[in-house]
Amino acid sequence: MSWEYAPAPESRETARLKSSYQMFVDGEFVDGNGGAFKSVNPATEEVLAEVAGADATDVDRAVCAARRAYERVWGPMPGRERAKYVFRIARLIQERARELAVLESLDNGKPIKESRDVDIPLAAAHFFYYAGWADKLEHAGFGSNPRPLGVAGQVIPWNFPLMMAAWKLAPALAAGNTCVLKPAETTPLTALVLAEICQQAGLPPGVVNVLPGGGDTGEAVVAHVDVDKVAFTGSTEVGKAIARQVAGTRKRLTLELGGKAANIVFDDAPIDQAVEGIVNGIYFNQGHVCCAGSRLLVQESIAGDVLSALKDRLQTLRLGDPLDKNTDVGAINSAEQLARIQELTAAGDAEGATRWSPSCQLPDRGYWFPPTLFTGVTQAHRIAREEIFGPVLSVLTFRTPDEAVAKANNTPYGLSAGVWTEKGSRILHVAQRLRAGVVWANTFNRFDPASPFGGYKESGFGREGGRHGLEAYLAH
Ligand code: NAD
Ligand code: MN
Repeated sequence: MSWEYAPAPESRETARLKSSYQMFVDGEFVDGNGGAFKSVNPATEEVLAEVAGADATDVDRAVCAARRAYERVWGPMPGRERAKYVFRIARLIQERARELAVLESLDNGKPIKESRDVDIPLAAAHFFYYAGWADKLEHAGFGSNPRPLGVAGQVIPWNFPLMMAAWKLAPALAAGNTCVLKPAETTPLTALVLAEICQQAGLPPGVVNVLPGGGDTGEAVVAHVDVDKVAFTGSTEVGKAIARQVAGTRKRLTLELGGKAANIVFDDAPIDQAVEGIVNGIYFNQGHVCCAGSRLLVQESIAGDVLSALKDRLQTLRLGDPLDKNTDVGAINSAEQLARIQELTAAGDAEGATRWSPSCQLPDRGYWFPPTLFTGVTQAHRIAREEIFGPVLSVLTFRTPDEAVAKANNTPYGLSAGVWTEKGSRILHVAQRLRAGVVWANTFNRFDPASPFGGYKESGFGREGGRHGLEAYLAH
């Protein structure tokens, strides 16, 4: 028998939630012309706040402000001075970390232990890291006098709202660009607190602008003639549309899109550690992770042992209130995303794969999906090919390392992969042949601002993080 945990909810007062949020343009919070929209808590369907939506005229205002700030203040400023602002933003994120974590969990549905221990610390870490580069750009490997590009238009998704904002803003600012950032429509709140932090840090007006809104707002940011650089993270479908839109213009583009990563477990891997890695790979953040290990490739001889250990482990996951410190699996971010997961898993059933979930009670209200795995999956199944972006693992087997590599690479994506084995030589041999931007060995979903991240093939191009991440924001 196991003991139940008593409820341990984080106080939502910490989030300092306001009933309405304005957009951030030219250093001020203002109403938009795009019409207000509501952001909901996906765990309860409760409306959290009204948020000002930006239309094309607001985008124009923001881009003009960003251009002015670039020409007059931020572009000419010495790197050692810019560094101080970026550093101050990092410190303020740390100071307001608890508030940001609770707000992120309310708006996104992710467990507080993830927003508190992963999202917010990593967001701060990115600003700290890039603050250090601002006065050393000539040593970054992009020529002796690299120059900023100008105004960056940045569109981000809802799965790591504040962290994605940090990945976009920190390198752009350190390199001397100014920014117009469009957060996702279901998770605009922490980006607007980040805008407040920019104000607190004394960042000159117009250097960072934050425009909430939907796809139309994103499209207007990408389309604006005075944007020099477009950076997008989100679905491959929208990424392709943006690539078409930007083609033939002078705009520079980086895309960070979907994934269908293989997590490869060889017969000599320590099974308990591998099981932890599989769980972290696909159930972390409800599987709303572009680099999620959504395809488990397990060597045939140990498949039975791995699966039974994995099922035992999944029985212990606690699903429920995202604000509870003991929650492992939170809510699905939106009704639309839940419908997508339901549709794809139904296709898995229809194509003959076998579905399994631990017994778990789903809350009555909100958007929920239990941790799920499919066995009997073939490479042709939709659940082996398409990004589900939910807590759903497709299990396939292999016999030889060659077969593992061939199956891992049999996808239009190429964002990440995992390899589990005791043999260092095998790690290197396999990793070299995997067509994926990041390969984790005996771990999964590890992020560090010093390490570049990005895709091959339909997972996009360009790198975020590390020295490489500066290249997207520099002319050389
Ligand atoms: P999406 O690509 O539609 O949205 C991402 C961002 O792009 C949002 O801010 C959105 O408002 C904006 N956007 C939408 N249409 C746009 C356009 N035409 N021009 C410019 N910006 C636009 O993603 P989604 O609808 O939230 O999710 C759909 C699927 O995308 C998911 O099921 C998942 O497979 C994938 N996804 C991947 C990532 C990732 O990190 N790679 C993130 C979110 C979603
Ligand atoms: Mn929300």
